[in-house]
Amino acid sequence: MKNKKPLTKPLTQLKLSVPAEEISISNFLTASGTFQDGDLLLNQKGLRFVSENKETPLPLPKEVDLQFSLEDLETIRVIGKGSGGVVQLVRHKWVGQFFALKAIQMNIQEEIRKQIVQELKINQASQCPHVVICYHSFYHNGVISLVLEYMDRGSLADVVRQVKTILEPYLAVVCKQVLQGLVYLHNERHIIHRDIKPSNLLVNHKGEVKISDFGVSAKLATSMGQRDTFVGTYNYMSPERISGSAYDYSSDIWSLGMVILECAIGRFPYIQSEDQQGGPGFYELLEAIVESPPPSAPSDQFSPELCSFISACIQKDPEERMSSLELLTHPFIKKFEDKDIDFGILVAGLDPPTNFTR
Ligand code: ATP
Ligand code: MG
Repeated sequence: MKNKKPLTKPLTQLKLSVPAEEISISNFLTASGTFQDGDLLLNQKGLRFVSENKETPLPLPKEVDLQFSLEDLETIRVIGKGSGGVVQLVRHKWVGQFFALKAIQMNIQEEIRKQIVQELKINQASQCPHVVICYHSFYHNGVISLVLEYMDRGSLADVVRQVKTILEPYLAVVCKQVLQGLVYLHNERHIIHRDIKPSNLLVNHKGEVKISDFGVSAKLATSMGQRDTFVGTYNYMSPERISGSAYDYSSDIWSLGMVILECAIGRFPYIQSEDQQGGPGFYELLEAIVESPPPSAPSDQFSPELCSFISACIQKDPEERMSSLELLTHPFIKKFEDKDIDFGILVAGLDPPTNFTR
């Protein structure tokens, strides 16, 4: 999209009178009967704004109420693959805006799939800058398609794969944003995310970090019945959750602690060395999470603030964990707050995420 000021008026308020007699607009009129002048495009489908084909994930002007249909989106390339399906980079043909289109093929009853989409529509267009926006959701031929805000630097998993470890100042900035997203989900929406992990924390070139799969994982988890049908990773699951007990918001806090610790030490905390390829199996993991003492940040390598933050999250007793709101004022977050640390600079130096094999 061009670097122009976003539209300030709703499209519906723009009036255009089409002249009765022919005037010299032939320079702009294409063979298909489309009138184009700069960003403005007029044809039988009405008046639209188009923009250059650049993969810049600018937010849509609020006033543009896009009536999406899947036919309006053209595929650019595949950007990711999860256990539930494929994520593609798509472009809206008329507006030029890029989105991530996530298709989820689930072997569940059609009725349930329809319900999920119904609920996702309610959750759509969240009001938090640290939660990935879901603009639209469709259900077609057994597939749920979500039109998501495109995060052009991939996920935290992509970042860590390249940088190996994230230094504390950057980690604090990342963590603060995730916490802001969690406060929104927990306190305003009353939603447990249930699947906080590096691949669900997405990053853009501005250094913004946003929680994704909100709603999706939550709705799927509740609709499909818990553990038996869970298809993601168990690595970041809290002890109470992995052992099948009741769990609440604090389960997300355990997961956040595990993610931050992994980013700090450069390996999944329950693996002792990088030689342990593939990670532990389910029962090994279950035993480690439930039976062994909780992992912590080594105090000889990290600041007392980071160590304390990790231990405020990774407590086996859910009651002992701090809430997302409390953690926002933790000394680890406060320490770097006025330091003007730009995570965008770190991600700008990385290769764009192109390898989508898991
Ligand atoms: P799982 O399916 O096991 O939960 P996952 O989170 O990696 O794993 P998806 O949520 O399907 O699976 O995402 C696959 C990948 O696609 C992500 O790791 C990320 O790199 C990319 N991706 C997902 N959503 C977006 C988005 N909105 N913008 C940019 N990239 C995205
Ligand atoms: Mg995901």
